Amino acid sequence: MPYDDSSGESLITFEERQTLLEGESVSMVRKHAMFDQDILAVAIPLLDEEILAGAIFLYKPLDDVYSPFEPIRYMLAGMMVFFVGLIIWGGRKIAHQLVLPLRRMEMVSEKMADGDFSRRIHSSSSDEIGSLARSFNCLAESLEEAEADRREFLQNVSHELRTPLSYMRGYTEAMMEGVIQDEEEKQKYLSITHEETARLSRLVNDLLDLAQLEGDSYPMNVEPIAFAQLLHEVAERFRLRLEQKRIHLTLMLDEEVIIEGDADRLEQVVSNLLDNAIRYTGEDDEISIRLEKRGDKALVTINDTGRGIPEEDLKNIMGRFYRVQKSRTRNEGGTGLGLAIVKRIVQKHDATIDIQSEWGKGTAVFIEFPRMQIE
Ligand code: ATP
Ligand code: MG
Repeated sequence: MPYDDSSGESLITFEERQTLLEGESVSMVRKHAMFDQDILAVAIPLLDEEILAGAIFLYKPLDDVYSPFEPIRYMLAGMMVFFVGLIIWGGRKIAHQLVLPLRRMEMVSEKMADGDFSRRIHSSSSDEIGSLARSFNCLAESLEEAEADRREFLQNVSHELRTPLSYMRGYTEAMMEGVIQDEEEKQKYLSITHEETARLSRLVNDLLDLAQLEGDSYPMNVEPIAFAQLLHEVAERFRLRLEQKRIHLTLMLDEEVIIEGDADRLEQVVSNLLDNAIRYTGEDDEISIRLEKRGDKALVTINDTGRGIPEEDLKNIMGRFYRVQKSRTRNEGGTGLGLAIVKRIVQKHDATIDIQSEWGKGTAVFIEFPRMQIE
């Protein structure tokens, strides 16, 4: 079509003509007055040495362009809505999977800071968030256990402290108020009070030992020890009690065994075990202590023919304050800290402890130490 500027209805606007003059083609989608309908058009300039000689103007009514889509218009719109919906739904789902557990973790950790360890995160996904949630739950679980443990320990400590204190207070008050006149009676109450103070000071010492053993502040003075000699010495200290109870003690000791350890702590271990063996054993029973080499180990066995430990108690027997038949053993003087201390000292010596027992038959305690090799 020749470029005709004289017609009243211009094919192109002024700006479009400027663009053509610069040698660039123009495309347009608009309602065109000359055609009286919406068109899609493109104009390509024909330049003759910088002068616009004419332009090729191609157009198509938009109706023609749109009409093929007419029948599927609603389908397309529907599909669009569907896909937009899908994207929103998928996005929310991803955000849900990612953000929700994180938000919950934040909430739960705030609760933990306030001392509430009972909450958990529910996440079944197998991705990083899922494994983070599982680790988080593990952490919460062990914190909850530690907290329960701590609470129980405190309860036990205060109970153990309260009982002797209340005895002592009761008896001293009775004596001060002159309720007890009889001299013999007085002596009896004084001796109970004395016993209770002894028990209290033992308890406090044991608690201090435990606290140090559980922390890293336990002083260990490690040196080579002739273990048979140590066992002889400890046994000697129990001679009187053994005689009083008419218990027969047998020692079968390999004198060559040397182990590395803290002599005072190892004495504490043997004393505690021997004390148990004597205390929970009747008259005319037997106790034996054996020390022998087992490859590169030294095995100590303390055996008694006493009352034994019921099977259901055996797995907890080394727990703090654990006693078989609590009230009965209290009267026998125990607080249930002995084996807990023994276990921890043994662990500090890279040794292992095992207790086997049968109710009514007797008990055997095995401790296996690494043995020092001498050339
Ligand atoms: P503590 O040793 O602190 O004075 P305790 O003797 O009661 O008190 P543990 O030495 O830890 O505490 O022993 C725990 C419990 O295990 C005892 O109360 C007792 O019931 C049982 N027990 C330990 N050793 C023996 C044993 N040789 N025979 C029978 N029961 C035992
Ligand atoms: Mg004991």
